[in-house]
Amino acid sequence: MAELHHIRNYINGQIARPANRRAFEDVDPATGTVFALVDEASEEDVDAAVGAARRALRGAWGRMDADVRAVLLDRVAAGIEARFDSFLAAEVADTGKPVSLASSLDIPRGAANFRAFASVLKHHAGEFFATRWHGSDAINYTLRKPKGVIAVVCPWNLPLLLMTWKVAPALACGNCVVVKPSEETPATATLLGEVMREAGIPDGVYNVVHGFGPGSAGEHLTRHPGVDAITFTGETGTGGAIMKAAADGVRAVSFELGGKNAGVVFADADFDRAVDDTARAVFLNSGQICLQAERLYVERPIFDRFVAALVAKAEALRAGPPGDAATSLGPLISLEHRRKVLSYFDRAREEGASVVTGGGAIAMPGELAGGAWIAPTVWTGLPESSAVVREEIFGPCVHVRPFDEEEEAVELANDSPYGLAAMLYTGHVSRAHRVAARLDAGIVWVNSWFLRDLRTAFGGTKQSGLGREGGIHSLEFYTELKNVCVRL
Ligand code: NAD
Repeated sequence: MAELHHIRNYINGQIARPANRRAFEDVDPATGTVFALVDEASEEDVDAAVGAARRALRGAWGRMDADVRAVLLDRVAAGIEARFDSFLAAEVADTGKPVSLASSLDIPRGAANFRAFASVLKHHAGEFFATRWHGSDAINYTLRKPKGVIAVVCPWNLPLLLMTWKVAPALACGNCVVVKPSEETPATATLLGEVMREAGIPDGVYNVVHGFGPGSAGEHLTRHPGVDAITFTGETGTGGAIMKAAADGVRAVSFELGGKNAGVVFADADFDRAVDDTARAVFLNSGQICLQAERLYVERPIFDRFVAALVAKAEALRAGPPGDAATSLGPLISLEHRRKVLSYFDRAREEGASVVTGGGAIAMPGELAGGAWIAPTVWTGLPESSAVVREEIFGPCVHVRPFDEEEEAVELANDSPYGLAAMLYTGHVSRAHRVAARLDAGIVWVNSWFLRDLRTAFGGTKQSGLGREGGIHSLEFYTELKNVCVRL
């Protein structure tokens, strides 16, 4: 058997061997085979990474002009594009997602995040006030200072995209970062280290420590007293654990967490658009996108036709080798995650759901037989109290329910402990604005889905998150605003 390649930590501008010499396996979810070994960072390695970040903050990076930083970040974007094929191969091996998806979404957005935040940095303005108080004149103006060393803890569903969505604004604002990628998808973070070095980013500004959460790199990093703030994307329960770790030292957190997003489709909507968009919202990336829809509420006159059209979309998806251009459905991230998703499939059946399509694992031929494949699934007929309708499943599955009144649709959509995103399809302009205002979510897509402008505020309400990032909102988290008052 050929020797497996190693994915290493990246500390202080160097590929680093872990002090404890421990490694874990990186599994290709499309085949279930181990294709790499990943060095697991020890507490000592995490300490070295945080120390390197702190030194860089006091050194060249901390003293660098903002416009020079912006030039370097543009170079990082160009560096990702120059190594597009390597990033694509790494992301596809880690996630099993179709090349058609990773090449049109994950990798281009990795580069776009650096360009977008280099631009935000160049164009943001501060506050200025001319003040007169008790006969004294003064001017007040604000300065934005970096927050310091930022821990960036990442999930596995859009590894490069979601990591760079945090790293780019953090660096643009002059911070240094220590990234803890998901244990499922470590490859692109280390590759980005090489791009950082080639782009001229000083040593210690960008560090990567691999490992797991509790008792491993994730916990060591978030508990480290040298970390000034933590930005985290992942499950709501993990967010709670990280919040407790952040309480020591009263450190700031920014959280993008789980969801159970609802889509509402009115009978007056452009039917084909609503079907196309909701099918993407349910099945893209095998349903493993935080913005995905797992609950759809469809006005009764079009309900049967809509379910039939959605099922046709599900059944047209082609599972297959990720590298095949005809593949439109990848596996889930792991066999363990598939077990969790299948437990909800069992539960749906036990609770009396009509399984309109799908409902189980898919048997794949040849080398794909060991992968985490699962059928796109549509249910109807469950009560709203069902765990299948209330809890995040994070798979290619959706429950569809009819409604009769606008008020009822709003109540059903809002009856959730989560509030990340909502989708709304209608041809009636007043209804679009009226319902959008009432849906309890951080983002409402009207007659659209996943149309992102990186300058807009992004984040969730209720248990879907804490804080907002994007454009100027990212600057709010990644900087400390200082007011300077000068008597004239
Ligand atoms: P997860 O919470 O299991 O893991 C995320 C990261 O946290 C991993 O790197 C993991 O190693 C680390 N971690 C786990 N326990 C930790 C601890 N105690 N201390 C420190 N680090 C710890 O999430 P996941 O399964 O990787 O990702 C899927 C979840 O992410 C879903 O719930 C999804 O909705 C959510 N998500 C949300 C958004 C958003 O924008 N709101 C975006 C993508 C994914």
